[in-house]
Amino acid sequence: MIGAPPGLRATRAYVDLDAIEENARIVRRRLPDASQIMAIVKADGYGHGAPWIAEAALRGGASRLGVATVGEGEELRRCGFAAPIMVLGSIDHGEAERACRFELEIAIGDAQLLEALQRAVRVAELSAPLALHVKIDTGMRRYGASTSDIVDLARRITSDNQLRLAGVFTHFASADEPEDVFTQQQLRLFREAVTQLTDVGLALPPLHAANSAGILTDQGTDFDIVRLGIALYGVPPSADVPLLPGMRPAMKLESRIARIFSIDAGDTVGYNRTFRATSPTRGALLPIGYADGYRRSLSGRSWVGLNGYRLPVLGRVSMDQMVVELPGHLLAGIGDPVGVMGDAADGSPTVDDIAHLMSTNTYEVLVGLRRRIPRVYIRQGSIVGVRTGP
Ligand SMILES: *Cc1c(COP(=O)(O)O)cnc(C)c1O
Repeated sequence: MIGAPPGLRATRAYVDLDAIEENARIVRRRLPDASQIMAIVKADGYGHGAPWIAEAALRGGASRLGVATVGEGEELRRCGFAAPIMVLGSIDHGEAERACRFELEIAIGDAQLLEALQRAVRVAELSAPLALHVKIDTGMRRYGASTSDIVDLARRITSDNQLRLAGVFTHFASADEPEDVFTQQQLRLFREAVTQLTDVGLALPPLHAANSAGILTDQGTDFDIVRLGIALYGVPPSADVPLLPGMRPAMKLESRIARIFSIDAGDTVGYNRTFRATSPTRGALLPIGYADGYRRSLSGRSWVGLNGYRLPVLGRVSMDQMVVELPGHLLAGIGDPVGVMGDAADGSPTVDDIAHLMSTNTYEVLVGLRRRIPRVYIRQGSIVGVRTGP
């Protein structure tokens, strides 16, 4: 372990910025030279820290950033990022003015939002036209225009000199599933929709469709932009879609032993006494709990890693602490680091293991890690930054 500046909380997440940069570069090498990578850094960079991830991804060959909210875009602008920043989903009409002010690219799925933005640009005194991407719903049935509305939307944008048609895109519903045929159907609908635009003489803006699963399975990667999310972090989108060779997880979640104590046969551990020892053993206290995003549903099911050994979680995970079993033969002391998530080599569960135990996906595990876990940023083996929470 790399250690950390003194005074840091025992529970911390190490983020390897070289891994982020390298993951982006591996995707970059897979793509045609002309295609661009939009690094998706929504939800605080999938819990890793958006500004740090954005910087590493841009170094690795990404040229655009994608976020989910106007506030996330504003945060990046305030950090000084000049790259195009796209807000991927719908925004509230009342946010239109702020979207203009921070020069965010907006996804348009209906005429009402477009009209709200048209009102906002009239008063915003922009130095350049506001960039909009028309979103086409090809089967997700979440956000996006139906294929019968896109010519109208695109024309309204191109005929307004304070707006710019900067993209046309769609989003896959199930590209992370094995032998998925729906993605091909979505791609066919997307191509047909794009043909409608060329048929009426509109010049095509950059097109985009692929998310990580699309990139890894080579579906929708022949357009102008790909949207790289979960795989940028070195985590596969699902168990069925592996990463490319060389890609690796960027985050390791670590805690440190705060106390070691003996547990007698018959003792119970934690709230509601769900674990009862059948023979004498030892417990180790770790200062991490469900308020950190280490969910209570992991109680009695998960483990942490120590020198390649798996130490099971005993009983309930509390809000801020939990207890793991320290087998008799293991030498360990107060302050020793244990791997909570990320590095299978030291015995820790991977993000995928934790997701499986929580009956959810890897995305929810990562974005659930709370701000109060310090993020320690590593480049070339050295600490280059620390972000502490309260
Ligand atoms: C979140 C998101 C992505 C990234 O998805 P990953 O599966 O993480 O690669 C791409 N496009 C849109 C529209 C998104 O909302």
